[in-house]
Amino acid sequence: MTDPLKPLLGKTALITGSTSGIGLAIATTMAAKGANIMLNGLGDADAIEKTRATLAGDYGVQIGYHGADMTKPDEIKDMVETTHKEFGSLDILVNNAGIQYTNPIEKFDPKMWDKIIAINLTSAFYTMHYAVPLMRQGGFGRIINTASAHGLVASVEKAAYVASKHGIIGMSKVVALETAEDNITCNAVCPGWVLTDLVKKQIEANAKRDGVDYDTAKRQLVEAKQPSKEYVLPEQVGELMCFLCSDSAAQMTGSSYVIDGGWTAQ
Ligand code: NAD
Repeated sequence: MTDPLKPLLGKTALITGSTSGIGLAIATTMAAKGANIMLNGLGDADAIEKTRATLAGDYGVQIGYHGADMTKPDEIKDMVETTHKEFGSLDILVNNAGIQYTNPIEKFDPKMWDKIIAINLTSAFYTMHYAVPLMRQGGFGRIINTASAHGLVASVEKAAYVASKHGIIGMSKVVALETAEDNITCNAVCPGWVLTDLVKKQIEANAKRDGVDYDTAKRQLVEAKQPSKEYVLPEQVGELMCFLCSDSAAQMTGSSYVIDGGWTAQ
């Protein structure tokens, strides 16, 4: 029987972009519920090793790290295969790595279009391309793609980001249909504003543009979109994803789950 306190015990989760922000919170939440984790993401090697060792020590689970660059298909293939080999299974895949860049369409740097589509969308094609056969082999799979409120609605100056997030919701539906009889689910999660490095950069840019201090820009950003006037906590996204990995969510597939303080209800 599943331990209610450790419902993910014995499961292996590969979480892309988990060296900071939402991804690290997902890793922490899943490790607390017993999952072994393969971390991935960019950053200072010593800081990443410290994170890895802390998670392993705090939760008594196996924590690995693979430094695959999500713009490089060969590295993504190696990351998926290494996870399966090192942990003995690949049960949960969270496609979470993502970047942001803003500019109006006529000024939008084409190189940044390519980079955002590669990291936010194409990398998830490759992870799923390589992971789904391994999940079928294991007889179980939970795939969760971090989309965004911007997977459902648009904002100005975010052509590539909005396209990538709408795209990943569509791709999640396709993979859900293709795996529907295989005890594998595939879903997207759509957070509103979460106070991470990705958003802090936007707050700093807005503060500079509007001549206001950081705290004012921070409040204005959330109030412009979220009726709750509160940022979503990274841990809240992690808990939602853990639920999607549970037996209770076995029939939840091909859908998007919004966690956005009411942003997209308007
Ligand atoms: P973050 O900047 O803290 O985390 C991004 C992660 O992606 C980091 O671990 C980073 O190292 C990794 N990454 C970036 N480029 C990479 C590459 N080339 N290869 C491998 N890893 C790479 O930001 P975050 O807010 O935690 O973002 C995580 C996800 O959540 C993204 O997909 C983002 O679009 C999505 N999201 C964020 C918010 C928000 O308000 N913060 C809202 C909705 C969705």
